[in-house]
Amino acid sequence: MTGFAFEPNPTPMSVNERSGLLADPGFGRIFTDHMATIRYSADKGWHDAKITARGPLTVDPATAVLHYAQEIFEGLKAYALDDGGIAMFRADANAARFRKSAQRMAMAELPDELFVESCKQLVLTDRDWIPNVDGGALYLRPFMIASEVFLGVKPAAEYLYCVLASSVGAYWKGGARAVSLWVSHDYTRAAPGGTGEAKCGGNYATSLVAQQDAIARGHDQVVFLDAVERRWIEELGGMNIFFVMADGSLVTPPLGGTILPGITRASLIQLARDEGLTVREERYAIEQWRADAESGALVESFACGTAAVVTPIGRVAGPGYDFTIGSGGTGQTTARLLARLSDLQRGRAPDPHGWLQRI
Ligand code: PMP
Repeated sequence: MTGFAFEPNPTPMSVNERSGLLADPGFGRIFTDHMATIRYSADKGWHDAKITARGPLTVDPATAVLHYAQEIFEGLKAYALDDGGIAMFRADANAARFRKSAQRMAMAELPDELFVESCKQLVLTDRDWIPNVDGGALYLRPFMIASEVFLGVKPAAEYLYCVLASSVGAYWKGGARAVSLWVSHDYTRAAPGGTGEAKCGGNYATSLVAQQDAIARGHDQVVFLDAVERRWIEELGGMNIFFVMADGSLVTPPLGGTILPGITRASLIQLARDEGLTVREERYAIEQWRADAESGALVESFACGTAAVVTPIGRVAGPGYDFTIGSGGTGQTTARLLARLSDLQRGRAPDPHGWLQRI
């Protein structure tokens, strides 16, 4: 398959209207003028790549995804750099994860080059939508659905891949504040052999009730335990987690198939090791977290992901317990790693691992 056909949006948003929106973009509500799409069918392979006006998809009510949830997605950001350039952060890693998710869901695998190219073409087309505000970026949302019209339970023979771009500001308004977590002992997110390490919509659908429960109890986010022993900390609904010990070392739960292999997680492990810190990918139990926070053996904890980058954790509660991490605010290591990673992402710090892909 060759390049992307370009069908410009005949009625793009006016510059005035757009600048009004971009002054306070929030997260995930403002979408750009265009989208990228590519189709797959068993007989033609990947075909019909194009950049078109963003608009509704027309789907037959018998489309497979609506019944059996064969759907996967990704999330990555493109940043405006201080020198006027634009760069995506580790898009190749998202492409590889998207392919792995497709394998797990028995979907067609999009070649990495097409994933990266579709994101790049969309960013180039809608580059004026990157908000010039603190934390501003284009959040890219590649996703793929089983588009075959057929009610049999089997892997679909047709897929629609699509990329949206959303203008976003800082995830937490007014800067990162420490969040409060509710540890769910009622719901789990993923079981061994399940789909925990795939980025499929179903994982998020099943996490919502646990998140709702956390909010109803006055917390910001839910944290999940493993499904077998119900004691090992896994991750949040949409972020991985790190623990900072008093000796300066870091601990993060190992990737074992039940947690999402976060690209922010991998990047922070590398940056911390570059600084000479020890990082252990090791199981950490909820009772240990509480004991270490109370004794002072653990001094900080933070969550991480593309959307919010690094979020300090100030308080943790579950049925019958409630403890504070450190002083309940943002710890030094958390603040330093957040600054290092965000500076690198914006081209304000060296990029020794070649993570920024200029476009
Ligand atoms: N865990 C889950 C369940 C997620 O949805 C995300 C967001 N993709 C993450 C962790 C963080 O991954 P990343 O750093 O690649 O955004």
